[in-house]
Amino acid sequence: MMYGLDIGGTKMELAIFDAELNRLEAWRAPTPKESYQSFLDSVVSMIEKADHITQVRGTVGIGLPGLVDPEGCAVSSNIPCIHGRRLKDDISARLSRPVSFENDVKAFAFSEANGGAGEEQKYVLGVVLGTGVSGGLCIDGRLYSGSRNVSEFGHLLLPAIIQQRYQFPLRVCGCGRTSCIEQYLSGPGLLGLCSHFHSRYTTVAELIQSLQRGDTQALEIFSAYVDCLGSYLAQLTLVFDPNIIVLGGGLSNIPELYQMLPGAISEYLFAGVNVPRVVAPKFGDSSGVRGVALLGHRYA
Ligand SMILES: [Zn+2]
Repeated sequence: MMYGLDIGGTKMELAIFDAELNRLEAWRAPTPKESYQSFLDSVVSMIEKADHITQVRGTVGIGLPGLVDPEGCAVSSNIPCIHGRRLKDDISARLSRPVSFENDVKAFAFSEANGGAGEEQKYVLGVVLGTGVSGGLCIDGRLYSGSRNVSEFGHLLLPAIIQQRYQFPLRVCGCGRTSCIEQYLSGPGLLGLCSHFHSRYTTVAELIQSLQRGDTQALEIFSAYVDCLGSYLAQLTLVFDPNIIVLGGGLSNIPELYQMLPGAISEYLFAGVNVPRVVAPKFGDSSGVRGVALLGHRYA
């Protein structure tokens, strides 16, 4: 049995998978954010409950918004109580078994590269467009980690050509810098574009419904968004040259993206560089927890 535990800023989800990665059962609990001891207790009780259900000691993979550095310490601004703590050692000791940790978005990329939408592709780039923007690269089904496991795709800068074309304001990012691409391409970033174009939309769903009805202003806003996303994915293509890009996060559910993106990306590439296929994820919202379960099984 494989357990995947996806720890989010507000909720934790544990999913039990069998050896063929069929999802057998899953449940959620709130994420304790203030007390490290409460956090450890909650994680341990979820794993012990899974052991009780399966009547075996399953393998454990954990995903979190942030990372565990090569020394085993957590780096996470979303969950203050774990930041700087020796999370890997502490949880492994409490559970008496090895545990693997991975950034939640990298786990998404890993899941889609292994049995997902990127199966049998050598270079699979996962890009998540949700409350933030992040990503991960898989090569031959294995995650590229870099020297410190950094995965800050959302903090590349807004291209000057896009800023000038639409006169976008330079927005301050949560990382402390200005004009990170996340400020324009995340869900809140897309709503910020709606304000910039003086539209009435207050949710992404409203914008997309109007787009699908043929509303001119919705098309103007969404085209600017796709132009910006196309320029971003073209830059990632120039660096990584992926065979395929798998989108994730809430915005990956917008079907128009997949029709418009190939043209938008190609505008920012040049002869000799292929436009990678851009596809929806196979496992949707549950891809991340599937990815951490598989990572725990293979590498813990
Ligand atoms: Zn930033």
